[in-house]
Amino acid sequence: MLSLRKFLNGLSCLFSRPTPHPLHVQWFITSKCNYRCRYCGVWRQPPTRELGLEEVKRGLDILRELKVVELVFTGGNPLLRSDLAEILKYACERFPLVSVYDNGSLAWRRVKDLKYADVVCVSLNTLNPSLQDWMNGVQGAFQSAVKSIEALKAEGISVAVDVTVSRLNLNEIPSIIEFFGSRDVSVILSLYTDFSQPEGLITIGYPEPSAALEDREALLSLLSQVRSLKKAYPVHFDDEALQVLQRYFEGCLNGWRCKALSSFFVVDQLGKVSGCHLTPPVASLQSLPEAWKSEAFRKLRGKYAGCKGCLYLCYLAYSLLDSPGKLAAYSLRYEAYRVRRLFGGKPRITNAFMG
Ligand code: SF4
Ligand code: SF4
Repeated sequence: MLSLRKFLNGLSCLFSRPTPHPLHVQWFITSKCNYRCRYCGVWRQPPTRELGLEEVKRGLDILRELKVVELVFTGGNPLLRSDLAEILKYACERFPLVSVYDNGSLAWRRVKDLKYADVVCVSLNTLNPSLQDWMNGVQGAFQSAVKSIEALKAEGISVAVDVTVSRLNLNEIPSIIEFFGSRDVSVILSLYTDFSQPEGLITIGYPEPSAALEDREALLSLLSQVRSLKKAYPVHFDDEALQVLQRYFEGCLNGWRCKALSSFFVVDQLGKVSGCHLTPPVASLQSLPEAWKSEAFRKLRGKYAGCKGCLYLCYLAYSLLDSPGKLAAYSLRYEAYRVRRLFGGKPRITNAFMG
């Protein structure tokens, strides 16, 4: 006879929410940066310590234990770390997809180190050299980014250009997509925001009035242009995320439930873990395996699910992986990628979901 305990256990399994599986992690591996971007708060912070190589490796082991799928190294500029090649190599042996960001200043000098990454993302916001230099606060930034993209391509490394859409380049986005797309370079779009929050983990956004995106009509028009350009060029902007954003700019706020600390989370240069870079740290890497299953994390997930505190497209894309069907499609895509990798293939993608 079925005991009461078994019956209750069965019921709790049926109705309990399973612990989510983290798919995507952004690791701000250093806060050091050699650029002075006008809309960025990172370089304005006082310098801090960062984890050493062995500590980073231990952190990577923990992330692997949690079965993280995609890992992004960002900063600051991760290429300012002299041990980056070793970090990338260690990570690539453990995670299905590893990407790394450069602001364009250093990749051309470090192509050999970057060969371990699956994808290198170079930030570039305009085809106008003087505007790019002004945005980065550094003379020669445009030329350096172009040189980096060419050097990576010449070495056979998958490269994507990361473009932050702001008022300064809004009208130029279609030309940027065509320019790079026709040269077989993928384009990732992010929206400029200054949602910096004092208690957040990393202060990326910084108020720059000339960059503020305020014209909803212009944004809606851009989104529909991106939709058609996607048919011809490799633009990493998930279709569903595009629709959600279109509805958002039309006034509908309910298109997604944020999956911070479920599908994705972020880690800072000291190994502190947070749902996203705008929310406060809630664990250390060491304590993460326990914390991940905890009641405190379950409550935080519920709180973040109702948050509409930002419009970062990467967070939005992973928040939209919200049904068993989509997760199955995501896993299948990774299987295909894993098989390709076994035979020495490199992906032309920045991540499996948006690729
Ligand atoms: S946006 Fe990136 S490259 Fe520019 S200062 Fe900030 S961290 Fe550095
Ligand atoms: S919506 Fe999600 S990713 Fe954005 S600030 Fe809120 S918790 Fe963070």
